[in-house]
Amino acid sequence: MSQSLRLSYRLETVAKYIQKNSFLADIGSDHAYLPVYCIQTQKARQAIAGEVTKGPYDSAKKTVCQYKLSDRIDVRLGNGFDVILGEAVECVTICGMGGQLIRDILEHGKEKIPTVQRLVLQPNVAAYTIRKWAVQNGWKLTAEEILKEDHKIYEILVLERTFKEMDATLDAKDLLFGPFLRKEKNEVFQEKWYRELKKLSYVKKSLENAPQTTENMRRLQEVVEEYQQIERILSK
Ligand code: SAM
Repeated sequence: MSQSLRLSYRLETVAKYIQKNSFLADIGSDHAYLPVYCIQTQKARQAIAGEVTKGPYDSAKKTVCQYKLSDRIDVRLGNGFDVILGEAVECVTICGMGGQLIRDILEHGKEKIPTVQRLVLQPNVAAYTIRKWAVQNGWKLTAEEILKEDHKIYEILVLERTFKEMDATLDAKDLLFGPFLRKEKNEVFQEKWYRELKKLSYVKKSLENAPQTTENMRRLQEVVEEYQQIERILSK
């Protein structure tokens, strides 16, 4: 029996949302720690670890071999959902990338995951691009987490397939802040948005000191509106 793998708090929180005994595809798996942990804890019965880059692919192969799980985890080199070759995958995880990249992977590969019921996504930034994609593509946001590890703040979004064309239950504030996160408004959520206010105030100052071109004035207006919107959410 090989040793148990210890996951980071971030990936452990992702694993919490994977249904027991799933067929998992972890896209952008890098070291493959998440699928290894999921097999060891019976979260997954079978897994695909997908990687687009050779170095991380080799690293995933090594980890899977080290934990003697080559019969349960198939490490595959390929872009996004191209690594899913018709298997009845039930749950997909995509973690540790920007929201835009995760959205692109979902958009380009959505036809390749007809059997997937749940997506557990952990964008490092721009979570709103994923919420927007979900609303437009028949996925319902069923849970969210925000957490801090090593001074970095991460969001986790859990999406369930609905078979509806459009989920109209999220408004603009929900898309930006997250419907569950803005309701709970925990300490990490507040810290994230105070950090955002700080960044916006730098941008605002530099735009105020820049030449007053139409583009700069338009951008300044946007920044002021975003700043006020965040202030309103934090003060409620
Ligand atoms: N998922 C792991 C985690 O959260 O710790 C690793 C995150 S690592 C920062 C992002 C990984 O995604 C990299 O290894 C990168 O090669 C991979 N990646 C980026 N774009 C990808 C794509 N289109 N398809 C598959 N993997 C991708």
